[in-house]
Amino acid sequence: MDLRVVFLGTSAATPTEARGLSSIAVARGSEILLFDAGEGMQRNFVRSSLRMNSKMKVFITHMHADHSLGILGLLQTLSLNGRTLPIDIYGEPRLAEFIKFSINQIGFGLSFDINLHNIEAEGLLVRENDYEVTCCEADHHVIAYSFCLTELERPGVFNVKRAAQFGIPEGNLFKQLQSGKDIIIKGSIVRSTDVVGPRRPGRKIGISGDTRPTEKLCKFFENCDLLVFESTYGNELRHKAIENYHATATEAATLARQSGVRKLVLTHFSTRYRQSNQLLAEARLIHEDVDEASDLKIIDLPYRQ
Ligand SMILES: [Zn+2]
Repeated sequence: MDLRVVFLGTSAATPTEARGLSSIAVARGSEILLFDAGEGMQRNFVRSSLRMNSKMKVFITHMHADHSLGILGLLQTLSLNGRTLPIDIYGEPRLAEFIKFSINQIGFGLSFDINLHNIEAEGLLVRENDYEVTCCEADHHVIAYSFCLTELERPGVFNVKRAAQFGIPEGNLFKQLQSGKDIIIKGSIVRSTDVVGPRRPGRKIGISGDTRPTEKLCKFFENCDLLVFESTYGNELRHKAIENYHATATEAATLARQSGVRKLVLTHFSTRYRQSNQLLAEARLIHEDVDEASDLKIIDLPYRQ
């Protein structure tokens, strides 16, 4: 299953010539999980290779305009492009109110259904067959959440050669063994573990939204294969990060290291950093695998070997 992160907006608070406002798409197979929808993000959605009529869920970290206002434009753009599949949208309760009120006031119809889900508490938001999405309270001015997409363990590798040695015919018995069941063939038992390797871990992606680094988030993002963490400031402006409930590149990297994160990607840069090299360099002193987000950048995330 392909898993890639597509950055649709990477600036903090206001856009620049090069960066739009916060939005991160995680494309998993043919499904899109969208995290935040800052103003105007639908333009980069159109420019990316993401499909308008994909199965889609949207998660909004908090109600600040640079993370939530773009949802209206996105819905309209999808509708004008003839989307038919429903969309599930998750956010704190005011998000649903805002969307319903705005659609009513602006008076636009949609070519598809939207299902609005209120986030009232931390924990499990979505459980699908092979992945789940969970949320954790972040530490920002307003109610804010961070999210994790965690793939469930996959079955182990099936050893066809070994199955043939046991005289097992292909088909239903293979399926039973693969799913962990033992079978009886020619009067003797064949255990699933005789032909199927150990279960394989899935991948885990963390999305910080706007936040200070906290102990709780450190635990929440434990062992992420990829963590996208906000890096509004450099270490020289740590006092501002504290004052404004944001993080520095140094803090993002320190948390990622403590959490055992494999790859860290910095985003949500203050417009004062025309070049984010300084932030990248700062984080790389602490964590060995750090990248910086830029609009329309794609990062593929293969399974761990
Ligand atoms: Zn923000």
